[in-house]
Amino acid sequence: MTDSYFHAGDLVGVLTTQPLDRPLDYKAPEGGCHLGAFVEVPLGPRRVLGVVWGPGKGDFDSAKIRSVIRVLDVAPMRDEMHAFLTRAADYTLTPLPAMLRLATRAPRLGDAPSMRTVYRLGASAPARMTDAREKVLAVLRDYGGLFFTLGELAEMAGVGTSVVKGLVKQGAVREEDAPRDMPYPALDPDYGGKTLSADQAAGAEALRAALRSDHYGTTLLKGVTGSGKTEVYLEAVAEALRMGRQALVLLPEIALSGEFINRVEARFGMKPAEWHSGVTMTERRRCWRMVGQGDAQLVVGARSALFLPFQNLGLIVVDEEHDTSYKQEDGVLYNARDMAVLRAAINGAQVVLASATPSLESWANVEAGKYKRLNLTSRFGVAVMPKMAAIDMRSEDVPGGKWVSPSLRRAIAHRLERGEQSLIFLNRRGYAPITLCRACGHQIGCDHCDARMVEHRFLKRLMCHQCGETKPIPTKCPHCDAEGKLSAVGPGVERMGEEVAGLFPNARIAVLSSDLYGSARAMKAHIEDIAQGGTDIIIGTQLVAKGHNFPLLTLVGVIDADLGLQGSDLRAAERTFQLMRQVAGRAGRAETPGVALLQTYQPEHPVIRSILAGDEEGFWAAEAAERKAAGVPPYGRMAGIILSSPNLQDLFDLGADMARRDAPLRRIGAQVYGPAPAPIARVRGRHRVRLLVKADKSAPLQAALAQWAAQFRLPAQVRLAIDIDPQSFY
Ligand code: ADP
Ligand code: ZN
Repeated sequence: MTDSYFHAGDLVGVLTTQPLDRPLDYKAPEGGCHLGAFVEVPLGPRRVLGVVWGPGKGDFDSAKIRSVIRVLDVAPMRDEMHAFLTRAADYTLTPLPAMLRLATRAPRLGDAPSMRTVYRLGASAPARMTDAREKVLAVLRDYGGLFFTLGELAEMAGVGTSVVKGLVKQGAVREEDAPRDMPYPALDPDYGGKTLSADQAAGAEALRAALRSDHYGTTLLKGVTGSGKTEVYLEAVAEALRMGRQALVLLPEIALSGEFINRVEARFGMKPAEWHSGVTMTERRRCWRMVGQGDAQLVVGARSALFLPFQNLGLIVVDEEHDTSYKQEDGVLYNARDMAVLRAAINGAQVVLASATPSLESWANVEAGKYKRLNLTSRFGVAVMPKMAAIDMRSEDVPGGKWVSPSLRRAIAHRLERGEQSLIFLNRRGYAPITLCRACGHQIGCDHCDARMVEHRFLKRLMCHQCGETKPIPTKCPHCDAEGKLSAVGPGVERMGEEVAGLFPNARIAVLSSDLYGSARAMKAHIEDIAQGGTDIIIGTQLVAKGHNFPLLTLVGVIDADLGLQGSDLRAAERTFQLMRQVAGRAGRAETPGVALLQTYQPEHPVIRSILAGDEEGFWAAEAAERKAAGVPPYGRMAGIILSSPNLQDLFDLGADMARRDAPLRRIGAQVYGPAPAPIARVRGRHRVRLLVKADKSAPLQAALAQWAAQFRLPAQVRLAIDIDPQSFY
């Protein structure tokens, strides 16, 4: 953009965070403003946040045009960010103001930073030296350029605050005011590198070389859990730091524990900036501002960290790139993995997608030559993946209302004798998925959703996993009023805990499920205790499949390997394959080899067979062939259209009308399916109807969808959401 400065009174177009369909004209303020400046503008009676998006249109009565109120004291938005937001908006068919909201999610961005008093080393020595004084000075000398608040300094030195004050009087310690939004301490790329194995070293060098090219590129870093992917991509981060470029590591929200931050600290000597839902508002603001002025070299964050205003982004790592939580399913529907690639392409940055079980999308992009691929073949220090075997449930004698087969029971008993840990995996929270009345057959459902209520015995409530609504567990049937006839049907992890406790009364048992903890901290403490050996048998949901390290674990038992194969999701096979391999990967991380046993009623199912055979390439090739034949992602394009409203008839009328007037879609060869009730036909009291659009990979789908949707007027209360590349089909 050439004309990047506007003089006072010039017309500028300001994009605000308010839901308007285009930037509005304002007059540049006294002193002028730059293109990209963050500004406050009047909108009706309010003052709102905006960005100077370009020159004004000038198609509005100039007498009525108001002035920008003030330019905020933050780094202006860079061209790359402007381009990223624009292209992400086009791709996801999201209005620009909503994208801008994602990019400004920190409080009071425009306020002058508040100040606080900090302490650093002074020029003169104290007249009289004491032990306590020496301790304070030693801390300040050790930490060189850092400064501390009074409390921090006294605590680090192990002295009272009066000692520090005494040193200030003598000029040995300096007291000064500093803004609260302080730069993050510098990371040292050469602080704590490990000696890498041969294939780790080769991988690290390939990533470093890619970074030095200064061009965009994406690399899939594949290796089983424990093969050292994290060690390798931290070397790429180190190289970015050496080059003076910023790095971003994205983790699935659930994996954002302190564990990773500690690893970064061990590698680079200091903690990185953090950006996720567990970060305080003050820290969010600090992170946003420091990233924007280049005073945060590394950000570790959840998907929305992609929208931080990096000044010089050189590297984005997407760890566990296959994880479904990278797809944002609320508000702006975007896939952080795909947006990371877009952002990097605009910035000339490198992307590393790390996974033990890559998505078929990434696998296909490697096959097509768009991504490079690096493999870490063996576990660090240990050469084996756990042995996998099926337990054929058709020939096991399992009593009604119980789920642990005799074969699995024997395997657990064996581990107990040897003092090793076992993990029982069942991807179902709560006690039982169904509460059934044995008198009338009624199943208790949610009042607002088309979903059954799940019993959570630990909380003593029934809970809807769609909307979170809970109610007390009733004693009589809400349908037929029969007393004492309600019974729990099917297993959840809490119920497995009960069964396993009955089988092994002397074992120490822990049930791990996200809803059983009051706080992330409590969960972390428990997981650490388990890793130390505080538990013999762990019973867990998906939570345990991700990232936690249990060195004493040598057996994984999967209660229902068939669970994910039911249903109509086009990724059911892929997800089951990934999940089973991840869970199995928990076993045998240290010296003791592990075993994974899969309980299944269909051991001859192709997906179960390829899991057991460990034939990954075979699985991907077969899965790719099926999707190609069906013309579905990643070999075709899809969009989901969800219509929702309290009024069902409106929805079907509109849906049918949309299916009929599909000329813009037919013009690009796309087909419309539906309308049909969504698999979950009611959520939070709103009925849901969906249409599905399928097109060729090369078809200009977004433009056609936009034209198509623009033909319809939505009745009151009807909402229309377009989901490009839908991940979940609920
Ligand atoms: P992944 O990310 O593939 O699961 P990690 O990088 O977490 O693997 O490595 C697994 C464990 O092995 C970690 O505790 C890590 O510190 C250790 N490790 C990996 N490579 C090395 C190495 N070259 N030297 C020392 N420890 C290593
Ligand atoms: Zn509900």
